[in-house]
Amino acid sequence: MKTNSRVVVIGGGVVGCSVLYHLTKLGWSDVMLLERSELTSGSTWHAAGGFHTLNGDTNMAALQGYTIRLYKELEEITGMSCGLHHVGGVTLADNQERFDMLLAERAKHRYMGLETEIVSPEEIAKIAPVTNIEGILGGLYDPLDGHLDPSGTTYAYAKAARMGGATIDINTKVIETNQRSDGTWDVVTERGTIHTEHVVNAGGLWAREVAAMAGVYLPLHPMEHQYIVTDDIPEIYGRDSEHPHVMDPAGESYLRQEGRGLCIGFYEQRCRPWAVNGTPWDFGHELLPDDFDKITESIEFAYKRFPVLEKAGVKNVIHGPFTFAPDGNPLVGPVPGKRNYWSACGVMAGFSQGGGVGLMLAQWMIEGETERDTMAMDVARFGDWINPGYTLPKVIENYQKRFSVSYPNEELPAARPLRTTPMYDIFDNMGAVWGAQYGLEVVNYFAEGEEPRFETPSFRRSNAFEATRREVMGVRENVGINETHNFGKYRVTGEGARDWLNHIMAGRIPEKGRLSLTPMLSPKGRLIGDFTVSCLGEHEFQLTASYGSQAFHMRRFDKNIADGVRVENISDRCTGFQIAGPNATALLQKVTRDDPETMRFLDVRPMVVGMVECLVQRVSYTGDLGYEIYCDPTDQRALWHQLWAAGQPMGLRPFGMRAMMSLRLDKFFGSWMREFSPDYTAAETGLDRFISWGKEIEFIGKAAAVRERQNGSDRKLVVLEVDTDDADVVAYEPVWINGQVKGFCTSGGYSHYAQKSIAMALVPGECITDTLEAEIEILGKMYSAKRITTPFL
Ligand SMILES: Cc1cc2nc3c(=O)[nH]c(=O)nc-3n(C[C@H](O)[C@H](O)[C@H](O)COP(=O)(O)OP(=O)(O)OC[C@H]3O[C@@H](n4cnc5c(N)ncnc54)[C@H](O)[C@@H]3O)c2cc1C
Repeated sequence: MKTNSRVVVIGGGVVGCSVLYHLTKLGWSDVMLLERSELTSGSTWHAAGGFHTLNGDTNMAALQGYTIRLYKELEEITGMSCGLHHVGGVTLADNQERFDMLLAERAKHRYMGLETEIVSPEEIAKIAPVTNIEGILGGLYDPLDGHLDPSGTTYAYAKAARMGGATIDINTKVIETNQRSDGTWDVVTERGTIHTEHVVNAGGLWAREVAAMAGVYLPLHPMEHQYIVTDDIPEIYGRDSEHPHVMDPAGESYLRQEGRGLCIGFYEQRCRPWAVNGTPWDFGHELLPDDFDKITESIEFAYKRFPVLEKAGVKNVIHGPFTFAPDGNPLVGPVPGKRNYWSACGVMAGFSQGGGVGLMLAQWMIEGETERDTMAMDVARFGDWINPGYTLPKVIENYQKRFSVSYPNEELPAARPLRTTPMYDIFDNMGAVWGAQYGLEVVNYFAEGEEPRFETPSFRRSNAFEATRREVMGVRENVGINETHNFGKYRVTGEGARDWLNHIMAGRIPEKGRLSLTPMLSPKGRLIGDFTVSCLGEHEFQLTASYGSQAFHMRRFDKNIADGVRVENISDRCTGFQIAGPNATALLQKVTRDDPETMRFLDVRPMVVGMVECLVQRVSYTGDLGYEIYCDPTDQRALWHQLWAAGQPMGLRPFGMRAMMSLRLDKFFGSWMREFSPDYTAAETGLDRFISWGKEIEFIGKAAAVRERQNGSDRKLVVLEVDTDDADVVAYEPVWINGQVKGFCTSGGYSHYAQKSIAMALVPGECITDTLEAEIEILGKMYSAKRITTPFL
């Protein structure tokens, strides 16, 4: 066995083998994989082997597409068979909401170039004749759906990796991973120790235990899962061609042909987590005992949907565990706070996602960044607040909702409330309807009177419409108040702070008492942050950005930290309020002896507000006259009472996230992870106007940004007014220009102030004119849209 290797991948399931293959594919051959038993000794061997492209997140869907196309390549490289069956598959909809979801998916696929198709019940009966189409409104057909041989595919990845120079040691259990002071790792196995630069945890069912060896907590948990293989069925073996897959979300089942019979698996409500206190090391190639009790209802439903099943005998039951993260997406990338420790875990659909996970991880390790936005699967999307107590109920919820309709405005209830600010009970008593961001409760809107304290999940305008309108108008016409808790905040201090910020941020770093807006770019010039930088002193700055990207941003800062600079994440140590609207100054004047009138736009200054020492910035994300007032959380209630008491006679109104998102549309303000994400560049999204091209210190991503500035970007962000009725743009709806799909929406919504439906979209530069007319496909219907160039003031 080698004792030195550039990379050690721990775990020889489909994911570990894919990572190993992709490392060699991208040029690293000094790489090895350690497997405690034989390859495929975790959840991989008992998988049903199904694959599909459908995923609510477009980047995940694209990576699933990549995975599926890769199998042919693997077969060609290795001469081995992956046992591919490209039979296609149809997802059924038995109610309008489910059908809406499929229509929205189909619309996204149009600009992604995926050839899916909406099919009628009659077409479903032809495509998948074992289906009882009674009550079915339609379905989404995906020709790329299929299944394969899980073991054969894993061995094909392994062979391709070996052909690229990788080594694989089986029967080699890793028992320790110890980091040296220089950041390299000793991987201790039962057969000796390997010194390596990078460790990849692909431990699958044992990922938690492997992570703990490095002092890391990965939020994932195994769940039991069961599928049944039937005896031969004449309606199946009598066919000329293989029966396609059928996903029946109403029955929480997936069905496909297996040999001369069928195979059906369930995501049952009465599901069970497995190995809550840890995966036993002696678990291997055994299955869990059959358990028909927990799937009784599912089987009964399946008999109605697929009547042939009722007569078919059971040939085989496969019941095994596999792991999930709280949101069902993989946990991939560099683990924050652990240099050169990489996660390739929580992959619940190894045969749809394993290839994409391997590719992204290899790009990240070798090239320093991935070719597309990986936020949906980035291990950094959860912060250090996450723990097993939160993970378990969330994983159960995710399993139960695997086949549920997922709505753009939906707030999932499990494991909440977890993290709250001092304002929680005050806002709750005022009728707050809550959402959660990065584990923190945030107010979506305030219900009044008889209004329900629950927003109905919907693809169309919801019951929050009137409350949102009230709050928007409260801000625009008077003054509104909202918390600043859900901004990520960082304190940057030290002699080198200014130079460091000039290097990390592409924009201008302000003078004392001022603030500036700046993009943060990756070396390849992509957007990895959208920051406000406030200069509090020559060696002291406060940064604000998205609350949900704290671990993502801190990982970036840590990686690039310089001597003489200290960066602290103060997101939860610094809270407060934002007040916005034409009467914001009048309100602030009532509670401070300072004179807010003397503050210019983008000024920042310490101020005593009421009894509280605050930091006040004259800026607002709603685009109004407004102030952000930051304070210590222990002072927040006192600050509130003061502002609220002073604001009552003026008609001060609290507002939530729904109103904020509507207000920002009026001003054409983009939003992080919608308009501004690592998928886009500064020039594409207009953030290049904040780049300081001439500053002396070279900023990260400058070469790429300059190149784009010289050559121009292919696409640009535009704002469109959409002539729609009860459904607004959410994101990724295709934009049709002259009968062709030319672009897609990044976000949208209803402007309650302008009473118009607004979309923001990326479209090719050559299509853009001031009078651009387009059509946008929303829930399967085409709506005309026209460009608007002047924000609603
Ligand atoms: C019943 C069932 C049906 C499924 N059906 C499908 C399906 O149709 N389609 C689909 O895409 N997915 C399906 N899955 C999920 C799929 O099995 C997983 O997504 C996939 O197997 C995850 O692979 P992995 O490599 O991450 O983990 P694993 O397969 O668990 O591999 C981890 C490997 O790491 C090794 N290891 C762990 N610790 C150590 C250590 N300390 N030292 C050395 N080696 C170690 C283990 O021995 C194991 O071989 C199904 C799962 C189940 C249970």
